[in-house]
Amino acid sequence: SPRIGVLALQGDVREHLRALESAGARATKVRRPEELDHLDGIVIPGGESTTIDKLSRIFEIREPLIDKIRSGLPAYGSCAGMILLADRIVGGIDDQQTFGGLDITVRRNAFGRQVDSFETDLDLDLGDVDGRAFHAVFIRAPWVEKVGDGVTVLGRVPHVADQSGEGAIVAVRQGGLLATSFHPEVTGDHRLHAYFVRLATTS
Ligand code: GLN
Repeated sequence: SPRIGVLALQGDVREHLRALESAGARATKVRRPEELDHLDGIVIPGGESTTIDKLSRIFEIREPLIDKIRSGLPAYGSCAGMILLADRIVGGIDDQQTFGGLDITVRRNAFGRQVDSFETDLDLDLGDVDGRAFHAVFIRAPWVEKVGDGVTVLGRVPHVADQSGEGAIVAVRQGGLLATSFHPEVTGDHRLHAYFVRLATTS
């Protein structure tokens, strides 16, 4: 079975490890650069993007991880992880930086102060995996404000008035890179993890 790492600096690491195991992967924590070797994919969990960024520098895993992502290591980021995988960020703290890889612009804490957290059912476009009625949990979530040509939109929150009027983009894929604004790791619904495990073994 594929070996998927979870970047274990901060955030809901355990939930992702469990979800990945349920989706048929061998899941391992990744904290040191050498732990990036021999992975079929990596998950960047939800948490706090500025903290994960800071710790990635302290643990000296930031540059090796960026190199791996650039050279094609499949990666899935949820929430803070989505921010960290984005090439561009708006509404970040100070000069907050990301790892990059996904040709998207994310808006941090996009849903605003009044609706810090909410849950809703979404229809996701997951190809062979049935993505209908996916229960999505949003916690101080980002949304995707712009996508590049190579990026596929997998899901939107239809009732949110974003710039486009089509609903805020909350799930995207570009080759082996996947990102969601929400946290599938907290619900016990492992379809998105199954989708990523499959992506990691085929890309
Ligand atoms: N708002 C957080 C950040 O900017 C993300 C929140 C989350 O991952 N639940 O990193």
